[in-house]
Amino acid sequence: MMLPAPDSWPTQLDTRHSLLLVDDDAASVQVLARMLSGLGELRFALSGEDGLRLARESPPDLVLVDAEMPGLSGFEVCAALRADPRLADVPVIIITGHTEVAVEVAGFAAGASDFIRKPPVAEVVVARARTQLRLKALGDALRASALTDGLTGLANRRRFDQDLRLECERARRGHESLALLLIDVDHFKRYNDRYGHVAGDACLREIAAAIRGCIRRPADLAARYGGEEFAVLLPQTDAAGARAMAQRIVNAVADLALAHADATPSCLVSVSVGWAAARPDLDASVVLTRGESLVEAADRGLYAAKAAGRGRIGEASEAHAHA
Ligand code: GH3
Ligand code: MG
Ligand code: MG
Ligand code: MG
Repeated sequence: MMLPAPDSWPTQLDTRHSLLLVDDDAASVQVLARMLSGLGELRFALSGEDGLRLARESPPDLVLVDAEMPGLSGFEVCAALRADPRLADVPVIIITGHTEVAVEVAGFAAGASDFIRKPPVAEVVVARARTQLRLKALGDALRASALTDGLTGLANRRRFDQDLRLECERARRGHESLALLLIDVDHFKRYNDRYGHVAGDACLREIAAAIRGCIRRPADLAARYGGEEFAVLLPQTDAAGARAMAQRIVNAVADLALAHADATPSCLVSVSVGWAAARPDLDASVVLTRGESLVEAADRGLYAAKAAGRGRIGEASEAHAHA
């Protein structure tokens, strides 16, 4: 993903940002809300505890928090946000009546991004908030591009590895089945040899879009595993579900009807899909803290699909039969 050029920053702020204002004094919240209303969608909390709850419900793009509150202080709210992986990147501006350097030092130590003095001045509040929103948008774009495959727009291998680890742990804790598909384009070297690498890349993009189109649930993840191989991670999915999804992907790629003169007998681009499903809490052979065995099982399924003639699905037990 391209990072936005500096001149396009103001346009970026046109998209509705989400701001969270936390202050135990309702009048202060109102004053700040009036100043910031043009920058995005505002939510309010009158205590640190409520502020944290709202932030966890839906991560904001910026938090402005009063330093002095009964219960959780602004510093404690800030530290709690930093400690939460989903909220660690949300910028926090602390609002304080104190002018001592020691207070600022403590705030920065707690992870604050900036300070605003009381009483707040509209121009200063808006300028500081805009700066933090810009930095947040840039950081979000960078984080997204670090986890996205440049050619296909699918999740990249790093994102896949991260999610595989997380979903294995989640499946183990939740006593649920986790499924994985490995997808490999058939005779793709011949495709490149005949049509060229530019056409090969375009073909990979079409296949990626077809795979994405097969995904039904928000938690499902389609990724480029490497080269002409893709992976689909399916949380809360058993063998029947995995098999159905694998077949759906084989069919979706066939439906693209992309010509491949050197892929006999169909003369169309096809994929082979290996699938595996496991209950990490029950299946002792699935050493799933790193997901390796699930990948290995799906890979054996892929080998079986290739050996049986390509353009089809395969499962690990069939690979045993072939071995
Ligand atoms: P099989 O049916 O056994 O999978 O045959 P195959 O030719 O697809 O398998 P092989 O692993 O021998 O070749 C994969 C080829 O995929 C090698 C390379 O030319 C091509 N490839 C890998 N990554 C890319 C890519 O990003 N773009 C293009 N255009 N081609 C790629
Ligand atoms: Mg206060
Ligand atoms: Mg391959
Ligand atoms: Mg291949």
